[in-house]
Amino acid sequence: MDRARRRKFGQNFLDVETATAIAGDLPAEAGEFVLEIGPGHGALTEHLLNRGLELTAVEIDEQCVEVLNEKFKDYKNFNIVNIDFLKFDLQAFLDAHAKPWVTGNLPYNVSTAIIAGLMPRLHLTKGFMGMVQLEVAERICAEPCSSNYGSLSVLVSAFANTQILRKIGPEHFTPKPNVDSATMLLTPREDAIQAPDGFFDFVRTAFTQKRKTLANSFGRNYDKKKIQATIELLDWPTTIRAEELSPEQFLNFYKAFKGEN
Ligand code: SAM
Repeated sequence: MDRARRRKFGQNFLDVETATAIAGDLPAEAGEFVLEIGPGHGALTEHLLNRGLELTAVEIDEQCVEVLNEKFKDYKNFNIVNIDFLKFDLQAFLDAHAKPWVTGNLPYNVSTAIIAGLMPRLHLTKGFMGMVQLEVAERICAEPCSSNYGSLSVLVSAFANTQILRKIGPEHFTPKPNVDSATMLLTPREDAIQAPDGFFDFVRTAFTQKRKTLANSFGRNYDKKKIQATIELLDWPTTIRAEELSPEQFLNFYKAFKGEN
């Protein structure tokens, strides 16, 4: 397989031992549905199929699809769709497969887009267990007031309980990536936030100048006087910063800003 293809599709394949350990972390029972994103040559897939899971894999690279179709031709519990996951009809899949687990060693160039797209539908799944770049996992799983906390943390923790499971160094892949990786478990929150339209744009904007106080961090995108008035209305200190707010506090702030409280 050529290098350009590997780079284009973010292809770094796991060694057998690490794949075995990661696949073992998926808390799924035989017979349950699993959606695997980016199966590559099937390092995780093989373990999941051998556990009797009903697996659908979504893989963009037709060469990988050929390899997988040959490798798993005798498995009745294996299905594959050759498509870019960002174009895959996730809702149709979720309508047809009750509460699947979602998993995968995600291609790093699209991992945040995949996770962000999954979050509003996470309640239709059992959860996500899979791998991203360590830095992304740390941002996703960060708590308020920590240095990694940002809009991605708010977006994901609005919908999910988050946990980093394993940190995995480059030596466990072929070819070796330039970054460290980590697996995470994201399970649906029973009290997930019902985000109104515009909420996540508001949160993203609040973090674009995260060193500034909340009153100054929205730039020209939102009416500054109204932002200041909302902070006063909520009786918050004028020094408060975006990184101090939990998803719930952000929601209260947004609703008060919109006059909905
Ligand atoms: N699961 C394998 C493993 O752990 O060895 C491969 C993981 S590799 C990091 C990412 C995989 O995702 C590759 O097989 C790549 O072809 C595939 N991929 C890249 N972009 C994709 C996309 N947009 N949709 C679906 N699959 C994609």
